[in-house]
Amino acid sequence: MQDNKGEKMPLYVGKDGKLYFNFAQGLKVQMHGSDYDKSENYVYEIVGCHYIGTTEYYDVETDGIRLPQPNSANRVKYLVSRYGVKTLASGKRLELPLTVAEVKAYFAYIEHKREQAISEAGKLTEYVALKIAANQLVSQIGYAQAFGKTTEADALEEQRAELERRAAAELHAHGIDPDEIAEPKRCSKCAGRGFVYNHICACAVPLTQTIKDFNAKQRLHFANVLRG
Ligand SMILES: [Zn+2]
Repeated sequence: MQDNKGEKMPLYVGKDGKLYFNFAQGLKVQMHGSDYDKSENYVYEIVGCHYIGTTEYYDVETDGIRLPQPNSANRVKYLVSRYGVKTLASGKRLELPLTVAEVKAYFAYIEHKREQAISEAGKLTEYVALKIAANQLVSQIGYAQAFGKTTEADALEEQRAELERRAAAELHAHGIDPDEIAEPKRCSKCAGRGFVYNHICACAVPLTQTIKDFNAKQRLHFANVLRG
């Protein structure tokens, strides 16, 4: 077996907790040609790094000529460990693009936080009473509007807004951000999950930095816990 296609190389986690390609862009290695003819030296260089699906791919040049097919991370590892003689240039390790796993972890965390906050808010009797009172006004406002009683409708609406303000203040007083428990605007393509069929949804893309930072922090935290 030339390279281990069955088992993917685990992704490289940097000291900052972020994910990186296993091999550096610009990595240049002096190689010996074969096990039989070691005089046939050549230079192996990584000129491009790609992450497609959940797999790392590397564009490679040998003696400046681009190979027609990219190499997998396992292939690079196999070739360099078997034929590498010395490193000519170490190149620069690039950060991995956002992964689906990172998106899933982030969205799941946000949803979990929301559920927790809702459960906490539900224990605040004053808050619950204010919300019930505010919701009861909604139908009264509807009737008033339906019968053209705009002055009454406006007055009721003002009452309702005041109850909502007090409810929000009650949450704040107990350390709950009202925005956190509000029903979020869910993306129609992914139903607010951030991915569709194992692809990152367009709605998650603007959050790339936030999602990466969240996951990096989680990895660092996990590593610290294990270290004890
Ligand atoms: Zn979406």
